[in-house]
Amino acid sequence: MDIAACGVCHTDLTYREGGITDEFPFLLGHEAAGTVESVGEGVSTVQPGDFVILNWRAVCGQCRACRRGRPQYCFDTHNATQKMTLEDGTELTPALGIGAFADKTLVHEGQCTIVDEADPAVVGLLGCGVMAGLGAAVNTGGVGRGDSVAVIGCGGVGDAAIMGARLTGATKIIAVDLEADKLAAATALGATHTVDASREDAVEAIRQATGGFGADVVIDAVGRPETWKQAFYARDLAGTVVLVGVPTPAMTLEMPLVDFFSRGGALKSSWYGDCLPDRDFPMLVDLYRQGRLPLERFVTERVGLGDVEESFERLHRGSVLRSVVEL
Ligand SMILES: [Zn+2]
Ligand SMILES: [Zn+2]
Repeated sequence: MDIAACGVCHTDLTYREGGITDEFPFLLGHEAAGTVESVGEGVSTVQPGDFVILNWRAVCGQCRACRRGRPQYCFDTHNATQKMTLEDGTELTPALGIGAFADKTLVHEGQCTIVDEADPAVVGLLGCGVMAGLGAAVNTGGVGRGDSVAVIGCGGVGDAAIMGARLTGATKIIAVDLEADKLAAATALGATHTVDASREDAVEAIRQATGGFGADVVIDAVGRPETWKQAFYARDLAGTVVLVGVPTPAMTLEMPLVDFFSRGGALKSSWYGDCLPDRDFPMLVDLYRQGRLPLERFVTERVGLGDVEESFERLHRGSVLRSVVEL
């Protein structure tokens, strides 16, 4: 694979900070698009010259989830079996099986989804964060026409959830964040209401915006016990909570069990937006090319490979949606 562009994702930051215990050294970068350069023996689904977006869930088609017709939950996803190495032969662990902060990388054919040509810095973002957020609303949350949706946390994933809710016809989309500029960006992507949680109670404000009832679907894009509880109590009876923000192992939750029972509904978590890359990426690229999905808004800056460290700083501070490395 010739990598054309690769986004700088929180998961790369987590690898860098030691939060992922795969074997060091890592080759980071996993949100990428580019062109197939050459293929190995037995590869049939892509050929040299294909423009592809990489994904980190190449479904196996064989495991118990796949066999039950739920490949988005595949328990045995494919990665390339041959490892890339440093010049001295040291094996590298590619982030999420991809490793795309490099001119070229080696992946499994199932990790490549052919899409129509489009700006790789923009559509490559479908390979991780944008798909995770958009899919949390569209696939996991099942947001549909006329629904009310609240999204807690308006970084890249939360904003993508807002964009997804708009795409599927939600009529009320409530963005919740602590920062005014993030709420403004959320509005530009389709939020119809905003809640500044530094000044008002998020649960109360979401209820007020939904006739006193709560939203049909509430998405926690932060992934902390406090925000999950807000999501839980800000949803309507029998509504759906989707957890897409990633908690740390130390976080715990204590709540009255009767509240889970009496409020009914669905409590879900969303990995990679429950996406199927071969189904979702081409469709979303089509919508982008038609001007119906403003993916370009997620590209805050375009940088070179030497600027990744500074991009991690900005990501850590929350001052960018996405820095994208162009190669
Ligand atoms: Zn499987
Ligand atoms: Zn990622």
